[in-house]
Amino acid sequence: MKQIAKAVLRRVGVRRTGLASARMCCERNLLATLSTLGQRRPRTGGRILCYHSVGQPLWGVNDVSPRQFRQQIELALAAGYRIVPAADIARTGGGPRDLAITFDDGLRSVLTNAAPILAEYNAPWSLFVVSDWADGRHAWDSDVMLDWHEIERLATAGADIGSHSVTHPNFGALDPARIADEIGQSRQTIAARTGIDATTFAIPFGQSGNWSPLAAAAARDAGYTTVYAQAEETRPAATVPRTFVTRWDSDRVFKASLSGAFDRWEEWV
Ligand SMILES: [Zn+2]
Repeated sequence: MKQIAKAVLRRVGVRRTGLASARMCCERNLLATLSTLGQRRPRTGGRILCYHSVGQPLWGVNDVSPRQFRQQIELALAAGYRIVPAADIARTGGGPRDLAITFDDGLRSVLTNAAPILAEYNAPWSLFVVSDWADGRHAWDSDVMLDWHEIERLATAGADIGSHSVTHPNFGALDPARIADEIGQSRQTIAARTGIDATTFAIPFGQSGNWSPLAAAAARDAGYTTVYAQAEETRPAATVPRTFVTRWDSDRVFKASLSGAFDRWEEWV
């Protein structure tokens, strides 16, 4: 069982070797430093942050602590950013001080740790759920993922709910029949379980190799109006960029991230 759980964690990009994790930490610190030396291109649009869990270390590099999360909101507000719905930035491009907050995967700490902090700041946010995981079909303990009841509660409290597929596959390596199932069925399941009409989709892994023109067509056919990546300049065509926040993002690295230090960085390449 432990082996299976480890394999699944590897598949969703969570379980890395200590070496890979250390490499990411070095890379982000180095890029943050380099970004202060070069000429920065001024950003014209808003920025959408992509988080996963807030205080679930199981999620590895994708997890930020509650203290880190609150501090990042404080840093952004102190720097003059305002937190707006991701949909606003997706629709209009937003302004250079517009910032949105999103969470992928549907982890329980979003409800227990992140949502109360966001409510304190009256900040809008979005959540992208994996429908099988919310159904309880996953390899982790039963308290790791949000269930549909909790997702509904978050939606009632104002969270915008979107899809993150049925099983979190890599769409870059999927056959056409499964592509359509993963994209269409997750939307149908969200509607059946919660009554929510999800029109947004966040690509699992979300980087340049994790999407295809076929998947983009399937998303359109399934009725999604917006597809979010997990990368900025290297994202797949016709997707909305998002900036990935990692556990290695100290105050200094996070501020560099807001200034675009990682806009050409990808995690899994
Ligand atoms: Zn994901």
